[in-house]
Amino acid sequence: KWMSAEEIRNAFKDYFVSQGHLALPSASLVPHNDPTLLWINAGMAPLKPYFDGREIPENPRIVTAQKCIRTNDIENVGYTARHQTMFEMLGNFSFGDYFKDEAISFAWEFLTKVLELNPNLLSVTVHHSDDEAFAIWNEKVGIPKERIVLGEEDNFWEIGEGPCGPCSEIFYDRGVAFGCGQPTCGPGCDCDRFLEVWNLVFTQYNKEPNGEYTPLPKRNIDTGMGLERITSIMQDVSNNFETDLFRPIIAATEAIAKVHYGSDRQTDVWLKIIADHVRTVAFAIGDGVLPGNEGRSYIIRRLLRRAVRSGRKLGVEKPFLHQLASVVADIMGNDYPEVREKLDFITRIIRMEEERFLETLTEGEQLLQSKLTELKEGVQAAATGAKEGQGSGGTATKESQVAGAAPEPVLSGTDAFRLYDTFGFPLDLTEEIAAEAGVKVDKEGFNQLLEEQRERARSARHAADGMNADRGALERITVESKFVGYDRLETDSTVV
Ligand code: ATP
Ligand code: MG
Ligand code: MG
Ligand code: MG
Repeated sequence: KWMSAEEIRNAFKDYFVSQGHLALPSASLVPHNDPTLLWINAGMAPLKPYFDGREIPENPRIVTAQKCIRTNDIENVGYTARHQTMFEMLGNFSFGDYFKDEAISFAWEFLTKVLELNPNLLSVTVHHSDDEAFAIWNEKVGIPKERIVLGEEDNFWEIGEGPCGPCSEIFYDRGVAFGCGQPTCGPGCDCDRFLEVWNLVFTQYNKEPNGEYTPLPKRNIDTGMGLERITSIMQDVSNNFETDLFRPIIAATEAIAKVHYGSDRQTDVWLKIIADHVRTVAFAIGDGVLPGNEGRSYIIRRLLRRAVRSGRKLGVEKPFLHQLASVVADIMGNDYPEVREKLDFITRIIRMEEERFLETLTEGEQLLQSKLTELKEGVQAAATGAKEGQGSGGTATKESQVAGAAPEPVLSGTDAFRLYDTFGFPLDLTEEIAAEAGVKVDKEGFNQLLEEQRERARSARHAADGMNADRGALERITVESKFVGYDRLETDSTVV
């Protein structure tokens, strides 16, 4: 049955409220009092104090729809059906209250009774040691053994020491058309056929400093279901970007760029990148993170610039991203009023950042393209030279004589750094453009130059700072990025 994303979000909260859960609003994307995290990346992240017992929750059962950002998925965006940089995690949590039995039963009832998904298309994974979870799925829920797959690391959740435990993931079979066709394809395969929708984590151990796992006195449940993924299933579309959460953003971009989604693969990738990144950026700015050069702020800058460049690839010459912010606010505003309330501000910030990058994008791309052409020609020449050298027994070195072993073209760290420093090209953007031409980038060389520049800036700061009270302490201060005026968009954020 077709349901809007908003209806699914509400149905999830209503269902768990009816099961005794307290609904809490989404926390900010910026972690509070948690230096280990750059962004809130899971529903449980803002609830950590409840998990490790530092604080007692108002209610032992909680339900949330939490906005999350995962930077490890940036490269997946546009290429898989299921990843965004920002997504909403629907989660139900138990703090010392119910455990595996109820967690599994609730999830099953929600999917098959509330959403009315076909139970035959659902399969699960459990940790190979977790006989309990296996028995609940098999005997109580009635999933046949063939559709319960035993897993290893993917089915054990832990970060360093502390509370941890096995998890069980639920997959929906989208059909052979989505599959990789490998004989090993099944739940957990990286292709898009068996779509991972929900992860149920059973926190039952404490990992001790000596590496031992001891049973916890109070066991917790932590679950997370991606709203965009479950929506893609309910709306019967082939990927998250075709749901009502993204379609209007793509439609607005199609109108601006005069292109059509679905006409070719590469166009779709750019449209998806733009839709994803502008949404993430709008939310991050709404939560007080401005584009800048460090930490969170730099991630926002990178996403913005990558989106601007994707727009350019679609043929858009003028600033346009900022216009999409209002579309994001229309889609998300009911559940995330902050985006609607701060729309003017968000729009202005995006516009400034766009204008600023557009000033150097063309020139930088020209420079980069000429370097890439040079490199590829150099490699070709070397390859031909090597072949000729072979025949004549001339000066060619042994390595270059190995048949077919033409040296791989690599853009130098110096060039990548110049693009960064003078033209504002984040390293990953340079890498992306270079990869389109089959060229790698010398990242180490780049990072070394970046470090040298930082070192110079540091010593200049210290030389200027005659007082030098407690340099170390000053450097450790983490300042929240804040808006300092339209002509100075930099943030003085984080020394990490
Ligand atoms: P995947 O293997 O598909 O990358 P995951 O195992 O990393 O997902 P979990 O950490 O288990 O994901 O998070 C719980 C749920 O959150 C997932 O089952 C999925 O529905 C959703 N999710 C995770 N990452 C993303 C993302 N980048 N975009 C959209 N939804 C996501
Ligand atoms: Mg992942
Ligand atoms: Mg996974
Ligand atoms: Mg998972």
